Amino acid sequence: MASNTSPFASTQPASAGSDVAGDVLHRRGLMFILSSPSGAGKTTIARRLLAEDGHVAMSVSATTRPMRPGEVDGVDYHFITPEAFERMVAAGEFLEWAHVFGHSYGTPKAQVKAGLREGQDYLFDIDWQGSQQLHQKLERDVVRVFILPPSIDELRRRLTGRGTDSPQVISQRMERARAEISHWDGYDYVVVNDDIDVCFAKVSQILAAERMRRTRQTGLIDFVRDLME
Ligand code: ADP
Ligand code: 5GP
Repeated sequence: MASNTSPFASTQPASAGSDVAGDVLHRRGLMFILSSPSGAGKTTIARRLLAEDGHVAMSVSATTRPMRPGEVDGVDYHFITPEAFERMVAAGEFLEWAHVFGHSYGTPKAQVKAGLREGQDYLFDIDWQGSQQLHQKLERDVVRVFILPPSIDELRRRLTGRGTDSPQVISQRMERARAEISHWDGYDYVVVNDDIDVCFAKVSQILAAERMRRTRQTGLIDFVRDLME
């Protein structure tokens, strides 16, 4: 955990990123964004990635929405008041922020910027607006993945089966789903989540390949120079 006094400096625990997934060279971390219409499965995929890949940490957003049963402050979100959120916006403390479902959500800067330099990868569960803003600001560090459901009927079944929302909230989410899906072309990768294992394997492969990008491997210049001497 970072030794910064800001409450937004902490992240989910993850190991150091300088020797990620068998890489021997130092590399810069990346910002791995997962977005989807609600119910398509991004939380399921994100949780599995965090559990199985020890080199990626969750970027914990701040939000003004009320905590849901089972959520933990500082883990799922930093739950803050609208006034505190506005103060952070005014102080330029967010990398991006947006209004979603009538509440404000934002990515605190503090936790991510230093980590990227150290080779730490971050996972973002943010919507298309945040994804667009991060891409505009930090294009070279950002990888955007959009998860689609196999069908609208299956999306409804998953939202109902999850058992976390009232019928009214489910119909609001279904109404919004089409609008969210319309932003599919603002992503670098689109993966259909039909079979969860297949989908998860694809997402993991994207992450593995993106880690190997030449421009992220900051140790390459010295390594190649040595090879050529
Ligand atoms: P999101 O975070 O996108 O809102 P969740 O990850 O909460 O979606 O998934 C919604 C529901 O669908 C959950 O109950 C989850 O267990 C289930 N689910 C996720 N992926 C699949 C899949 N490939 N097949 C069947 N059910 C799935
Ligand atoms: P929920 O309230 O269901 O946790 O999230 C609602 C929506 O807000 C989801 O689409 C989620 O991806 C998005 N979201 C969560 N955190 C952020 C954030 O920091 N920035 C942006 N732009 N969207 C976020």
